[in-house]
Amino acid sequence: MERFVIVGGGLAGATAAGELREQGFDGEVHLFAAEPHSPYIRPPLSKEYFTGKEARDSIFVHPDDWYRERELVVSTASPVVALADHAVTLESGREVWFDRVLLATGSSARRLEVAGSSAAGIHYLRTVEDSETLRDAVAGGGQNVVVIGGGWIGLEIAAAARGYGNTVTVLMRDAIPLASAIGEELGTMFRELHEANGVTFEVRDVLSFDTRDGSVTGVVTNAGTVPATLVVVGIGADPNVELADAAGLEVEDGILVDEHLAASANDVFAAGDVANAYHPVVMQRMRNEHWANALGTGKVAARSMLGQKAIFDEVPYFYTDQYDLGMEYSGYPLLADGAKVVYRGNRAKREFIAFWVAEGSVVAGMNVNVWDVNEDVKELITSGRAVDEAKLADESVALSTL
Ligand SMILES: Cc1cc2nc3c(=O)[nH]c(=O)nc-3n(C[C@H](O)[C@H](O)[C@H](O)COP(=O)(O)OP(=O)(O)OC[C@H]3O[C@@H](n4cnc5c(N)ncnc54)[C@H](O)[C@@H]3O)c2cc1C
Repeated sequence: MERFVIVGGGLAGATAAGELREQGFDGEVHLFAAEPHSPYIRPPLSKEYFTGKEARDSIFVHPDDWYRERELVVSTASPVVALADHAVTLESGREVWFDRVLLATGSSARRLEVAGSSAAGIHYLRTVEDSETLRDAVAGGGQNVVVIGGGWIGLEIAAAARGYGNTVTVLMRDAIPLASAIGEELGTMFRELHEANGVTFEVRDVLSFDTRDGSVTGVVTNAGTVPATLVVVGIGADPNVELADAAGLEVEDGILVDEHLAASANDVFAAGDVANAYHPVVMQRMRNEHWANALGTGKVAARSMLGQKAIFDEVPYFYTDQYDLGMEYSGYPLLADGAKVVYRGNRAKREFIAFWVAEGSVVAGMNVNVWDVNEDVKELITSGRAVDEAKLADESVALSTL
């Protein structure tokens, strides 16, 4: 009987396991997860679960029975420590052979290694335990929270920490958060949203941490010390490539894979955050750290493992919720860089769609507090058809007719 192994129990790994059965694979499927949990999703860790709106059960990709019913063997707390030719080795020393393997090892929060960085009160956010520890620390309010990094996770935590009644300062290298992702104008909208909710932004370089009795008391920067009773470091994530690297696979900002998600060695595939995959639309490799990417690449990788010529060519998608603002972004940041932004709707009320238009076509779109338009936005992007900018901006013209 054929045996497929999946390394990594995140959304990509769990999705691939389910897709193998969905596609009729009746061989053995073994999923090895380093964490002591059944696969779970991470977006709620800085949103609904963190703010207490959703219970713990809601974060799991599937209930445990779901895997059992499909004879998918999930081994938790079982990190894979080595990958060889058609075999993996677990931390326990057990060796498991495979016909095909999927590496879905995800990414890890990037660490800030400066003096004082091991002090108590300095938090990172990647796992459910990180989320619970941080929530316990801020939920009572009254903390002087300093968030290092003005990316998506930093801003979501800033919003949630304000919601729990804490003082929040965000330290960033650039004056405008998210500018590299969505441009200065829209980044400014997020900054103003946070300022209106009492968050202070400072452009600073972090040099070290001040501590007393082993706990953080301040963040030392190039322009003075910012007092802190609690620090959250959100400076990005790095792909977990150690296994692949040690096995001699081609690795460069992730595991290099083609549009079928096949890696540089026979019978090895990669999906999710760890995969730096060739995308046929932008005609270059992209590594996406998004929920929808884990889902989409998980499915395509499973089909490729079965020998189908599946291609991953989805439009990248992600979302965020901060205060009363919810948004969805679809599109190709690579193509949107330098494109013209056309707005439809009410920007002052933060109810609009922003379209990035390059060479007459929509290459990305972001709907802010406007719902049920994402499929139309994606369709505009995938069709690549020329659009009339005046009609794009005109709310009376249905997107589907453009
Ligand atoms: C707090 C937070 C909020 C987020 N919010 C959003 C959002 O709003 N929208 C969005 O689109 N995306 C969001 N993301 C990103 C999204 O969660 C990731 O893109 C997604 O989790 C990637 O899934 P994955 O399966 O590739 O990797 P992961 O979820 O990282 O899972 C990989 C798993 O593999 C395990 N592993 C690693 N090495 C080994 C090994 N050697 N052996 C066994 N197991 C191993 C890891 O422990 C981990 O459990 C957020 C991420 C975080 C941390």
